[in-house]
Amino acid sequence: MKYIQISLEEFFKIGPGPSSSHTIGPMRAALHFLEQINNLESTLLDKTKRIEVILYGSLSATGKGHGTLKAILAGLLNYTPDKCTPEVFNPLFEEKKEYELFIKDKKINFKLEDIKFGPIEHQFPHPNTLVFNLLDAEQKVLFSQTYYSIGGGFILWPGKKVEEKTLPYSFTSMAELKKIIQETSHSFAEIILENEMSLTGKTREKVFFYLRKVLNVMEMAVKRGLKTKGELPGSIKLKRKAPKIYERASFLAETPDRFLMFLNAYSLAAAEENAAGHLVVTAPTSGSAGVIPGVLYILRHHFHFDIQSLLEGLLVAAGIGYLIKQNASISGAEVGCMGEIGSASAMAAAMIAHVNGYSIQVIENAAEIALEHHLGMTCDPVGGLVQIPCIERNAMGAVKAFNAYILASSGDPKSQKVSLDQIIKVMAETGRDLPLKYRETALGGLATTLAQC
Ligand code: SF4
Repeated sequence: MKYIQISLEEFFKIGPGPSSSHTIGPMRAALHFLEQINNLESTLLDKTKRIEVILYGSLSATGKGHGTLKAILAGLLNYTPDKCTPEVFNPLFEEKKEYELFIKDKKINFKLEDIKFGPIEHQFPHPNTLVFNLLDAEQKVLFSQTYYSIGGGFILWPGKKVEEKTLPYSFTSMAELKKIIQETSHSFAEIILENEMSLTGKTREKVFFYLRKVLNVMEMAVKRGLKTKGELPGSIKLKRKAPKIYERASFLAETPDRFLMFLNAYSLAAAEENAAGHLVVTAPTSGSAGVIPGVLYILRHHFHFDIQSLLEGLLVAAGIGYLIKQNASISGAEVGCMGEIGSASAMAAAMIAHVNGYSIQVIENAAEIALEHHLGMTCDPVGGLVQIPCIERNAMGAVKAFNAYILASSGDPKSQKVSLDQIIKVMAETGRDLPLKYRETALGGLATTLAQC
């Protein structure tokens, strides 16, 4: 088993919603393809007439509603996800159907019809697959590259070489991580931080600078979402709910309901911004980009935790996410919604336990409890949009994170029967046993029952 070697910039990616695997991943694939073809021999480029992209699996089933077509075009136009503002992203393929791409000095026209929807069931090793082809005038393939969008905006391609570095702290599981913590007396956050510095060559200040940026983007998503009313884009004409709940909570007396209403409002606000295609942070995915921002917002603005504690909390959240990504999956297309909302809730629960000063055992238990109570959760987005059930699931994931923290921090933490490593393994097995119709294809469950809504 390889040691965990994921960086914070790879994990907490800033980019447009609504779906990291269907939006940020394909955009990064298009950018990589663009780079590849820019390095091809001129003789090959001279013969090039068209670029064709074929979507497979979940990308083919729900890519349209998830913004995949716009994302591919944005990448081919050389936009990176963090620079792809809503002003750039939303009008793509809306205002015009044909665009000019430039490969070196060569101009190629790219149309909506150049993106094709391939079969949902296929033989590629990952459910979210896309193939880019460079074609000549006779439709002969001159150059081809296959990509897998594996969740959270991460991409792979056949033969991709991953350079393994020697990090200060090598671990593949929570059991190994706890052993390191015991031997070094370092905190969870410190271990993730030192590995990050070694992996990226960044100073401590630079790592925290990036985390501050992540926190800002998350907070901006909450703030915008609380202020924005009206309908979300898409066929189901779903109305935003966050501003209403926020207003109700603001006029309530100090009661437990009020806390829950604020937490719901903050998570909904960021999730609604994601559904609108606005800038969010993959935490761990865009579909689940409301859980951690909602929790962070309440920790900062209601419980008044200082920024430094929250940034360290993000390091802990990332550490839990790394373990899940490495040993199971954070992709709804691979393991259902437990990989997205379940992972986000586990990360948030661990973050709450950390900022409240609890031990690694309580942090682990909080993450375990949150993940355990998302087991079996299907991914069946209505209309192929990241709206129903996704938006409310973010609010539910945030509430469950708080509850998991309460359960984990009460009683003897050593008496916990199930470990985080065990539940991650169970999640991977359960997720892979889910029929295809419950893995981001919109072919079953809520997606078909509510198809007419
Ligand atoms: S149901 Fe869950 S996993 Fe599926 S798209 Fe929505 S948030 Fe993502």
